[in-house]
Amino acid sequence: MAETRVIRLTEVRKTYSSGDIQFEALRGVSLEINQGEYVAVTGPSGSGKSTLMNILGCLDVATSGRYEIAGQDVSRMAEPELADIRCRWVGFVFQQFNLLASMPAWRNVELPLCYAGVGPAERKRRALAALADVGLADRVNYRPGQLSGGQQQRVTIARALVTGPALLLADEPTGNLDSTSAREILSIFDRVHHEGRTVVLITHDRDVARRADRMIEVRDGLILDRSRSSLVVAP
Ligand code: ADP
Ligand code: MG
Repeated sequence: MAETRVIRLTEVRKTYSSGDIQFEALRGVSLEINQGEYVAVTGPSGSGKSTLMNILGCLDVATSGRYEIAGQDVSRMAEPELADIRCRWVGFVFQQFNLLASMPAWRNVELPLCYAGVGPAERKRRALAALADVGLADRVNYRPGQLSGGQQQRVTIARALVTGPALLLADEPTGNLDSTSAREILSIFDRVHHEGRTVVLITHDRDVARRADRMIEVRDGLILDRSRSSLVVAP
């Protein structure tokens, strides 16, 4: 049977060290996310949301605990294997767009396909299709500086989706946007979710979080799962 729990974290801890000082940003997080689920992660600034996202996206590794993606234990993988997982499974959208200023939109979008070893003609075809999917067919040759914030964020979503990832991770994707652009971005996430992808949206904005199937709250490096805690208090 297919593995439906895409993500399983068990007692994950993350300790940052700077000099003599150690700080435990995640203090034993256990979490399961199913294939196709739309999960919002909320919590105050400094609670550990980005730390959690970096681990979920294999951009960083846990200090202890176990992390499985689609049944594979990634907690003990080294960088080349992690890079392979990121490339095949995960698309990222950040608050800062992280686009290359000197390159037109379509070149930014094709970059993940370069890492995946796709040939130039196919890369361009898929980049243009991904940009059309986010409503930017008429902006493919624009550089980031020639696009609005909302358009730049749509370019990053096209870049995140161009490899066809099962999991889309977004860390405060609407944090730098006006409300109209934010709504456009969130409706793209709704569509991505309806296509069957797993979406994990990190936000400190509870109104944004309410669009998801499930809201998870991070506090001081620990998870509070509201849907489960409400089950516990039900009569
Ligand atoms: P959030 O995204 O919820 O605002 P973060 O995950 O970025 O929180 O940070 C959680 C805590 O870990 C914060 O106190 C932050 O200062 C600390 N932290 C994050 N990254 C590092 C790092 N590279 N080195 C040391 N401390 C860090
Ligand atoms: Mg953060």
